[in-house]
Amino acid sequence: MRVTPVAAKSILTPSKIPGVDYSLNPYVGCVHGCRYCYVARMPHIRTRGMPWGEFVEAKINAAELLQRELRRAQPGKVVIGISTDPYQPVERELQLTRHILEAFLDGYPAAERFEIRILTKSPLVLRDAELLRELGAEVGFTVTTDSEKIREIFEPRAPAISLRIRALRELKRAGLRTYAFVGPLLPMLPEMLVEMLAGAVDRVIIDRMNYPWRVRDLYRTYGLEYALEDEFFVDLARELVELFSRQGIPAELTWRWATKLRRDSLGL
Ligand code: SF4
Repeated sequence: MRVTPVAAKSILTPSKIPGVDYSLNPYVGCVHGCRYCYVARMPHIRTRGMPWGEFVEAKINAAELLQRELRRAQPGKVVIGISTDPYQPVERELQLTRHILEAFLDGYPAAERFEIRILTKSPLVLRDAELLRELGAEVGFTVTTDSEKIREIFEPRAPAISLRIRALRELKRAGLRTYAFVGPLLPMLPEMLVEMLAGAVDRVIIDRMNYPWRVRDLYRTYGLEYALEDEFFVDLARELVELFSRQGIPAELTWRWATKLRRDSLGL
């Protein structure tokens, strides 16, 4: 694992994701190295010539840049952790994400109107619970399956599912709004997943795999090809939406499901 400090040129990036105004990534690269990660296939990552999961660039000037950018940025919704995990292990020492949160709290009037959402797979986020509560942030954990066996295939270096759910419960007890990002949908027992998340999250976002050809070999190795078919995603999403709603947990689908065909087939 190679960690390189870098000076970033900007930090608050306008986002094209519907409902998200900015993305903010304190790191480039991610030690979790998930096998389905779309970031690994992006041109600016491939040209680095290092295997995904084995390098991290730490934007050491992130908080300082943010303080400057907040003075002129239009307030909006910021998601921290779209292209990296902001609480991957190196954060324990470097604390870039923590300093970013402090910058959001630092007294700039505009900053008060930024809505912050975190996405992580790491219980290290608990360290910053107090700061996140002060910011009124919403904290989400990615939970793609109920099965540790499946998790180990696709997310070999990320924390265990039980640790993520325990952290969600603690955050909720601490008064934070929480959500689960269930995506990309992996093979699972949906009833089990819903039972695990009940009482731990206020809402759920469901996403599908949108680049199956790139992970097809991995699915084939484990005899999971069926889980790359449209039918798998549609049936599972429909079931999850229904099961979560029975628990009083709203579940929404990402923009990836937005085509008329998919909405029709989901009956949503
Ligand atoms: S935790 Fe997120 S950013 Fe990191 S490798 Fe996994 S999917 Fe990619």
